[in-house]
Amino acid sequence: MSKTLIRGAKVLGGAPQDVLIDGETIAEVGENLSAEGARVVEADGKVLLPGLVDLHTHLREPGREDSETVLTGTRAAASGGYTAVFAMANTFPVADTAGVVEQVWRLGREHGYCDVRPVGAVTVGLEGKQLAELGAMHDSAAGVTVFSDDGKCVDDAVIMRRALEYVKAFDGVVAQHAQEPRLTEGAQMNEGVVSAELGLGGWPAVAEESIIARDVLLADHVGSRVHICHLSTAGSVEIVRWAKSRGIRVTAEVTPHHLLLTDELVRTYNPVYKVNPPLRTERDVMALREALADGTIDIVATDHAPHPQEDKDCEWAAAAMGMIGLETALSVVQETMVDTGLLDWAGVADRMSFAPARIGRAHGHGRPVSAGEPANLTLVDPAYRGRVDPAGFASRSRNTPYEGRELPGRVTHTWLRGKATLVDGKLT
Ligand SMILES: [Zn+2]
Repeated sequence: MSKTLIRGAKVLGGAPQDVLIDGETIAEVGENLSAEGARVVEADGKVLLPGLVDLHTHLREPGREDSETVLTGTRAAASGGYTAVFAMANTFPVADTAGVVEQVWRLGREHGYCDVRPVGAVTVGLEGKQLAELGAMHDSAAGVTVFSDDGKCVDDAVIMRRALEYVKAFDGVVAQHAQEPRLTEGAQMNEGVVSAELGLGGWPAVAEESIIARDVLLADHVGSRVHICHLSTAGSVEIVRWAKSRGIRVTAEVTPHHLLLTDELVRTYNPVYKVNPPLRTERDVMALREALADGTIDIVATDHAPHPQEDKDCEWAAAAMGMIGLETALSVVQETMVDTGLLDWAGVADRMSFAPARIGRAHGHGRPVSAGEPANLTLVDPAYRGRVDPAGFASRSRNTPYEGRELPGRVTHTWLRGKATLVDGKLT
């Protein structure tokens, strides 16, 4: 088996150390390790993190291969430092059967850039009416542990309760896209000062917060685990903080774009800023950063949502909602959380690897960087600064809100079970 010596890496931002990979495993971590028989990567003070884990990715296959495929999406993931992604169920057909989730899982294995853990739909066809085959998806080769109708809210309280009861039996989790449908009919952006000025239909914070409040109470009642997708308001943070203080088994995620961008950008009418949930206010952004720092929000998840150009290059009202994010997530987190002093690199490792792997039960991922662990690793150069150029993206889509923006940090290397998937910023 091949050996790789990563020399002088700041493991989780600590003092420089050498890390020896032997085959699929981390063989040794220490000082002045022998390079005999090993390929040497000079880390030169770069930061070594456990491979990142994304609990919320849209890979679009099957059905929308014009925007992304499992291959292009997992290459984008490897470029961004990820070694595992959870692929959302809103494909065509919907991932609501063992057959579809096994297909997605198998494609990820075949391509070998990043482990793909399919998310199963909560309801048949994401229609919110009838529970999907949760048990069959869990028992399949894909071993589904996370269920979500993401893109749509499971708004029927009885269905949500049943789903929570069902997944409890095998330690699964329901990931809710919290959006009260009646309160958001025709909504185009955050409801507030900017929407009033622009005359666009508003998406009130209470539409998100009322569902989160209901679902933490349901999770408490059932004794099951609920995960809240892409929290976007200061009020949502307060509800999750309250629920955690009561011992309710709730976890929550925030996207990189909700940590950086605000609804002021909608004034440009550039549909690249149209996203669900919508960009909120500066006050919300600050509350989300603080909550990620203090652990109220457990993880960063990308909600990587690729769209072909024709679905974005149109007037605001007609444009699709969503942004890509796998290849810029770590840079945005460095900009908003590390360079601001809110989180250190060990904190980033927790929010982007340890905690998401734990929530999704992604065994072999989110492990400490120590001897005997699987060599799922990513090497980051935090001193780098550069402008985002989507032309270089591995994703099939280009709908990034950061085009031309200067962001810090760059992923230079990624290893999936010892196999390099990214070397010097280039996919293998
Ligand atoms: Zn969603």
